[in-house]
This record gives sequence, structure tokens and C-alpha cells, in this order.
Amino acid sequence: MSIPTSRLDGRFFVGFLGWSSLFRFGAQDSLQTMASKVALEINFFLKCSMAVDHFSLIPRVIKDQGLYDGVVEVWEECYRDRLLIRPRSQHSKCSQCIRHKLVLAKLRKNIPARRAQLLLYTAHLDKQYLDRTIYWRNRAKSREKTLEDGSRTVCLTIDSVDHSKFAFPRSAAMSSKDYSTFIRPTLGVTCIIVHGYGFFLYISEPAIPHDSSWSTDILSHSLNFVCEREPELELRACHVKLHGDNSSKELKHNTACRWLGALCLGRRIRTGELNCLQSGHSHEDIDQVFSGLARFVEGQAELHTPDDFVEALKTFVATPGFRPFEPHKGVFKVDQIRFWFLGH
Ligand SMILES: [Zn+2]
Repeated sequence: MSIPTSRLDGRFFVGFLGWSSLFRFGAQDSLQTMASKVALEINFFLKCSMAVDHFSLIPRVIKDQGLYDGVVEVWEECYRDRLLIRPRSQHSKCSQCIRHKLVLAKLRKNIPARRAQLLLYTAHLDKQYLDRTIYWRNRAKSREKTLEDGSRTVCLTIDSVDHSKFAFPRSAAMSSKDYSTFIRPTLGVTCIIVHGYGFFLYISEPAIPHDSSWSTDILSHSLNFVCEREPELELRACHVKLHGDNSSKELKHNTACRWLGALCLGRRIRTGELNCLQSGHSHEDIDQVFSGLARFVEGQAELHTPDDFVEALKTFVATPGFRPFEPHKGVFKVDQIRFWFLGH
């Protein structure tokens, strides 16, 4: 796959630096006037078609000018349909990105070194972007069901929710001083999206370990669940693509490799592929679901037992319009998992 040329175009940085120097405002300018001026400059650069890919750099410059809120307001009003400014991310940051940004901050006065560092940083961003395009491509193929050449792709993605959000019991009584030292146990919640087919949440109590056997067990269950409800889905003719983040907890382990290998050798699937996105750059649609899920749980006042959580989450996934591409949805409480370590 070719790298988008605009991402490596050195002329952009010259243009960008030149553009940032245009932020010269009179002391008498109101915030709205200054914001409008900035919006006009952004419009100019959008027409140049090079600023779009690097738009994430712009809020940093604007923030330095103390104009961030004003520009966001103008942008939302005028250009929301062209490019959306996302709210600040709550996810942990990539360590390589942090390192690049810190080095760039120290090279403010050394333009050649800064430019060289910026190219390295851009190369890193390109690399993670290309990784993500693989996920997006597989997701699109999976949603299309049957491709032009007659083959089928089933794309699965797996991730776990921060378990601190699922402490139980949730009750107004827990705010009492009597419970101030009470340490609440937490539920483990893992989500699997079989793109185009199903959305599943698996809940477990603290005694169930979330190891490679857990991932393999629930992946097998998801595939089985979908196959039972989609009679025309013949896995033996399907390319199965697994996606997860770059951690050994979810997918990056021998058990998943052996499981995929065994499925291929046993001719249960046509091919198997395991993909792990770079750490810190793995925030995809599954994380958007998690933020909605966390907000939903926060809004539930009384959830006393794990079964109450299961019932509440069933209500959540049954919300009309939720994950319209995935017709089959399920919330399962897992009390026991199989031992999947092959060869031991
Ligand atoms: Zn990074």
C-alpha cells in the first residue's frame, strides 16, 4: 500500500510554520473577531488540501494563542461537515509519540533539527495509520458479507473494559460513611465485535482469570453463536481476521496462534490472520462503545449483583439504533472457562 504523499510532504511543514506566523492580532480584537480570522486562515489551508491530514497539529498552535475555545466554536458552526474536532482523548498516550513531542518541544530554536525530528514523528504516525487502514479494510470486507471474488471475510475485534468501572454493588447506600473503607470487587467485561454479524459482551466475576484461555474461549463462543444464527455463513470458506491491541492479555499470545492454526489445519476456516495494533494507537469503534457503556453504568443507581449488571447491559445493547451493522447481540456471564493451553 502506498503512503499518502501529503503526509510526507516537507512543503507542508514550511507552509504550516508560515501559517502559524500569521497569528498576529490587534490588542483591540475581540475573541470572536480573532476566532473568525483563524477560521478564515484554516479555510484557506483546507482549500490548499494539505492541512486536513495534519489538522491534529493545529489545536496545539491555537491553544498557545489562547484561542482554542473560540476556534472550536467557529469551526463547529461552519466546518463541522468537513472535518470534526474530536474532544480531548482520555486514552493513554503512545510512548513513542510522547517521546517525539518532548524532543520537538526542546528543539524550538533549532529549525533543521526540528524538521528532521518532525519527519521521524510523521513516519511513526504514518506507520500506525497504515496499521489501522488494515483494520478498516477488513471491517468493511466483513460488513460486505460476500466480496466480488465470491470469498467471505469475518473480522473480529476484541478488547476489555477498564474493570474499575464495574465495581459492585452500586447503590446509593454505598456512599455512607459506614462503607468508606469497603473495597468493592470488580467485574471483568470483555467485548467482541464480529463485524457485520454480532456484538457480544462477556462478564466475569473476579475469580475468573482473564488470560489467553479466556480470550480463546469467548472468541470460539462468538464464532459459534454467529454461525448458529447465520445458516448461510460457511466458515470453511471464510477468511477469519482477528484484531486486538498490542497486549498479551487479549490476542498476542501463543494460544490464539495455535487456535487459529488448529482451525485452519482442521479445515474449519479457510485462512486465519491475527493483527495487533500499535500500543497507544488502538482506539477504534470498540472504544467508542466502551465510553457509551461507562456512561450508561454511571447512570444506573442500583446494581447490586453481577446478574443485575448483566440485565442492565442487555438493556444497553438492545437500545434501538445501537450497532446497526451487527444484528445479533448478546450479554453473557461466564462462570467457567476451558483450559486452552495446547501441548501442556
Ligand atoms: Zn505513537
